[in-house]
Amino acid sequence: MDKENNSTEISDNTITQENKLNSLPIKNNCLQLAVALTSHCNLNCYMCSRRYNKSKNKHMSDEVFEKVLKIIPYAKTLSLRASGEPLMTRNLVNKLKQIKSVNPDIDINLTTNGIAFLRGYRYMYNVLKLIDNLFLSINGIRSYEKIMIPAKWKKIKKVLKMFHVIQHNLPAKFNSLLGIVVMRKNFRDIPNIIELARKYNFHQVSIKPMWIHDKSLLNESIYHDEKLYQKVLGKIKIAKLKAKKYHIKIHDLVSIKAKVNNRKNRIICREPWQSLVVKADGKALLCCTRNTLIGDLSSQTFEEIWYGKESDNYRKGMLTNKYYKECLKCNKIFPEIKDSYIKIKYDTGL
Ligand code: SF4
Repeated sequence: MDKENNSTEISDNTITQENKLNSLPIKNNCLQLAVALTSHCNLNCYMCSRRYNKSKNKHMSDEVFEKVLKIIPYAKTLSLRASGEPLMTRNLVNKLKQIKSVNPDIDINLTTNGIAFLRGYRYMYNVLKLIDNLFLSINGIRSYEKIMIPAKWKKIKKVLKMFHVIQHNLPAKFNSLLGIVVMRKNFRDIPNIIELARKYNFHQVSIKPMWIHDKSLLNESIYHDEKLYQKVLGKIKIAKLKAKKYHIKIHDLVSIKAKVNNRKNRIICREPWQSLVVKADGKALLCCTRNTLIGDLSSQTFEEIWYGKESDNYRKGMLTNKYYKECLKCNKIFPEIKDSYIKIKYDTGL
């Protein structure tokens, strides 16, 4: 597809100017790519979209993986996630080597529940030495088994111990993060996650709000019960004090709702210019909110998708405040609106 023609279709000058940003990922290698090499998972976590999504699990085909490899040189970061457990990928180590061979500078983030590391120290080391950032979704301590179904606490504790041993052999720049998706079931564990991070030498902790993938999750939402939300903020405050003491960096995406209430201007989300999500079946999405479908790598090229009409509609919408489809109700733009955390899948009509 012709890039020049694509940008001249847009009449507004401001948009035409900004739309040149379309070429940024290719020119400056700044694409933030998220890829699900598989949609299989060894767990069935309480808050995960997979639990409520009836679609069939599959591993990414070789054909789609070949197309992903062609995108890799344009990417600054690659996150292995997008629903599905990356450690369930067939020949993961081999695939990681192929990715690094086409772009040695790429930063690879692996988001995992960690359980499959129990295959052994050698496997864990072989994976970790090929990535740059480990995001371990722990999601609770006392509440762990109620959320990470059917994993057992003693098993993940073993994984943490293994990581503690292995991390000394990893490069100094290797980064590790423990993550908690906050809900009614686990908010009391927030400060204890900091203690856990300190014990096993994780550098960072991420505290995220839960997205609501099914109506049955509404009761767990911290944003749909103001009293609960205030209690959560109290726990986060304690966690931040602990983190400061232990020099652990916190990414708090929960308190943002409170911070933006007095904000005058909406932010511009940059995802339409710098992010691409590829699902295991080849479906391409603009961002990780599940519903921003912009094409399909199993039948299209990256260029056809990236410069396609659907991608442009999202960009134009962002620049004109006439938000397109999913952006209209996204928590990134409207974090103060509780229903913007509802991500129940709908037909995109693409
Ligand atoms: S849906 Fe949300 S995250 Fe995705 S592009 Fe729109 S505003 Fe950004």
